[in-house]
Amino acid sequence: MKTFLDWSAYQDAGMGDAYADIPKHGGHFAKAVAVCINSRQCETAGKQVMCPSFQVSGNPNLSTGGRVRLLKAALSNDLTQEALCDPTLTEAMELCVSCKGCKRECEANVDMALIKVEYRAQQVAREGVRLRERLLAHMPRWLHRSPWLKPLIRWRNRSPLLARLSEHWIGISAQRQLPEPAPKPFTLPDASPPSPGVSADGRPEVVLLVDTFTHHFEPEIAEATLAVLQAGGYAVQVARPATSDPEPTRPLCCGRTYLVQGMLDEARAEVRRLVDVLLPHVQAGRAVVGLEASCVVNLREDGQALGLGDAVATVGDKILLFEEFLARESMAKRLSLPLRPLQETETLVHGHCHQKAVGAMKAMRRVLKLIPGHDFSMIEAGCCGMAGSFGLEAEHAEMASAMAERDLMPALRDKPKAQIIANGFSCRQQMCLHGDTRSRHLAILLREALVGTSCRSLSSNSARL
Ligand code: SF4
Ligand code: SF4
Repeated sequence: MKTFLDWSAYQDAGMGDAYADIPKHGGHFAKAVAVCINSRQCETAGKQVMCPSFQVSGNPNLSTGGRVRLLKAALSNDLTQEALCDPTLTEAMELCVSCKGCKRECEANVDMALIKVEYRAQQVAREGVRLRERLLAHMPRWLHRSPWLKPLIRWRNRSPLLARLSEHWIGISAQRQLPEPAPKPFTLPDASPPSPGVSADGRPEVVLLVDTFTHHFEPEIAEATLAVLQAGGYAVQVARPATSDPEPTRPLCCGRTYLVQGMLDEARAEVRRLVDVLLPHVQAGRAVVGLEASCVVNLREDGQALGLGDAVATVGDKILLFEEFLARESMAKRLSLPLRPLQETETLVHGHCHQKAVGAMKAMRRVLKLIPGHDFSMIEAGCCGMAGSFGLEAEHAEMASAMAERDLMPALRDKPKAQIIANGFSCRQQMCLHGDTRSRHLAILLREALVGTSCRSLSSNSARL
């Protein structure tokens, strides 16, 4: 069986382990599946991230281990491609929200989100890409090239007839509002000349990666990040496409929209384009900072299975989330942010699954503690259910809602006066769709707390629903 991702990292997995029961077909991919030790920990109730689809359905096939059992059966079948089309397996894989909870929480670190990418790539090779998935995957290009997209989304959101038609034709739930692009996308500041890690005036340099979704939907987050980093004494460059790039004005993108749909050639092209820009910065000793955990996960983990060589790992090892960067600088006593107490007495924090997957919640705590007298607590909840586009898809919207209503939305309703911090674009979108418009990115909160900024003047409902 030909595989589309590089699974060589698993070449020794399960070897010599009598219990591994490595399937006959799939090579190293089969070994990645077989790392599961069938402990069934993923089928227990609890506050963990793993596994949201099992938690809301109780169906063992929808647990990580359940998916492993189904996949092992398919990969052990000599008619592998036919077996991979088995409807029970197809449903189980479709309902994996790629939260990476299993990679972090399962004792064998089963990476079902990456396994699903291979599964989708096999599906794409067999059946092609369906219209909805094609549209969603190409969003970074549509958003840049198609000025008619903004009014169309607005029109669709306000017209029940168009919403019903979009469900009928494309499979986007008529019950869900689509996120609307900002009136004006992020504007790249003028480029500053490169220097070896420290700017001409002696300030340490930081390179900010403004991802596609922040660029088009919530440019105020990128602006707030720039303001906070500059107030912290950093010289900030925004990563921009090379002048030789065939699309020099299209924002850089991590390629995740393609990767999750199994469109790996397109994902490779995006990751290569991004890494070509970031690598020289990393080599020059500049810190590279991202805002969306999914983009950072793409470079740190999934992008490395695309077979693009060491450059992806070099950049992936160095890229930090905004909160990780600030926490690192604060621990090294290099950060001095002029912050003052906030008016709000209470803050609730919801972690994006991929923030948890990369262990960034500790950094969130550390940074939130920098605000004097700030009382905050973490919401104990798993996946919000939006998971990219999962919560917008007609056949998945109900399950996505059940995920949101399991812990997250009740926790928000319990504290109607608290402010909410959620760094994930999808999480903020899901909260808005469930009637709570309070959530904001950490960068917006920190900019508000900067001494010299007028209180609440900069806050906004960032999800624009
Ligand atoms: S996926 Fe992980 S937690 Fe679930 S059964 Fe396998 S080893 Fe246990
Ligand atoms: S990635 Fe998330 S949804 Fe998918 S199997 Fe793992 S825990 Fe479950």
